[in-house]
Amino acid sequence: MFYESTRGDGKLITSAEAIQQGISPDGGLFVPEEKPIIKLDVINLLVEKSYSERCAEILKHYLSDFTNDEIIQCVNSAYNIHSFDHPDIAPLANLDRGLSVLELWHGPTCAFKDMALQILPRLLVKSMEKTGEAGNILILVATSGDTGKAALEGFKDVPHTAIVVFYPEQGVSEVQKLQMITQEGDNVGVFAVRGNFDDAQSGVKEIFGDIATADIISRYNFKFSSANSINWGRLVPQVAYYFSAYAELIKQGRIQLGEKINFVVPTGNFGNILAGYYAREMGLPVNKLICASNANDVLDEFIKTGVYNRMREFKKTLSPSMDILISSNLERLLFELTGHDAEPVRKWMSKLKQSGSYEVEGAIRERIRGIFWSNFATDKETMQTIRNAYQRYNYVIDTHTAVGLNVYAKYLAATADPSYTVIVSTASPFKFNASVARALLGEEKTFGRSEFDLLGMLSEFSQMPVPTGLRELDQRPVLHRQVVEKNNMKQAVLSFIKNK
Ligand SMILES: *Cc1c(COP(=O)(O)O)cnc(C)c1O
Repeated sequence: MFYESTRGDGKLITSAEAIQQGISPDGGLFVPEEKPIIKLDVINLLVEKSYSERCAEILKHYLSDFTNDEIIQCVNSAYNIHSFDHPDIAPLANLDRGLSVLELWHGPTCAFKDMALQILPRLLVKSMEKTGEAGNILILVATSGDTGKAALEGFKDVPHTAIVVFYPEQGVSEVQKLQMITQEGDNVGVFAVRGNFDDAQSGVKEIFGDIATADIISRYNFKFSSANSINWGRLVPQVAYYFSAYAELIKQGRIQLGEKINFVVPTGNFGNILAGYYAREMGLPVNKLICASNANDVLDEFIKTGVYNRMREFKKTLSPSMDILISSNLERLLFELTGHDAEPVRKWMSKLKQSGSYEVEGAIRERIRGIFWSNFATDKETMQTIRNAYQRYNYVIDTHTAVGLNVYAKYLAATADPSYTVIVSTASPFKFNASVARALLGEEKTFGRSEFDLLGMLSEFSQMPVPTGLRELDQRPVLHRQVVEKNNMKQAVLSFIKNK
């Protein structure tokens, strides 16, 4: 299997090269040249397998330049009970006859980013061995909160790598911020940016595209790569949990082999749901992929109208990991839907950059509507959904998952589709405990309480233990205090690397 750029520079590279480079030199994203097909009898074989084995089965098709042993080593060291607090790794919680929740937050940082970022560093180190890379890799990350911590945990003290994370100073929760600024490890840098997530992401993209900066860091024997979902090595492990969820539903006798199901995906950068799209293209029986946005409803509008317009107010919501106006991974979907024709993709992306919007027409818009359904939830609806889920199912969900559940209710009301549905749950309720506690315990009891008081109160109320990664966060020493202007991110990277 070879990989090509969505901007069409014509080069074909191996998966190891794609993972090592992160983003294509022409500014595009790497996509597999073709999509492997997984037949129903192979899906059936996944039913009795562990999460690691299911994941290895999917990865081997995409990482064809890796040996089976290498893949097995990577999955086994990523997905095990030392890093995950549930033996199934990605368990299902069954809420109703036709409704389950796929819990993707049992990893060390309590959000679904761990599903990819526990394995990406291992894939990267193997990729460097394969390409004969003798130097070191510098990972740059822009984060809306969850990626940063998950990447830091994945990469800390990994040989031949260093990692620098930028997060929006005002754009992350207290817990998320403390998770990052207390990060240990000799190869890590963490910077707050004066700006929002899109500023941080644009800044990182610009550094990636800057030859002069690449030249300077090369003198220190470093090359750039990315741990954002623009890196194929981040995306491909996510395809696995769609297959795993399906196999698990068969195992539990909740669906029949071949039965089509829906997935509802709380969406920001379009990485998670794009992995669902690849799973569907590979033959996983999926009816609709339901894209759930928060009040930053740019994707909802795009799916409904074909117009992508980021020229709108950036809203800070209770589901901050989805506060995004530029969804990078959409570029991959567009490239797939044009049948790998880079020319229109280049045109749309340059329009987006120049005027802030573009429009896809005709057949492409129809194909998008055939695969996806979308809607959005306001903060008020999010809070109400957290309460409803608790009352109805005795189940505690975080704000992002609540956006998903709310949008699913809208989908049911609009379509009455009886298909079995899986809500993809992207964070532990404890990670966004302030909002969850407010929703469940009420304003009065929670008013004026710190996020750490609320962790305890939520634990007591829900009878669930506070996850290990979030305990005693407020007592750890702060190791990273630097704040940079959005125009000074490059200098921050250079001073970090000079001190390595
Ligand atoms: C990152 C994140 C999302 C959005 O996922 P994308 O792949 O960017 O669409 C949703 N929920 C949580 C909790 C996240 O951390």
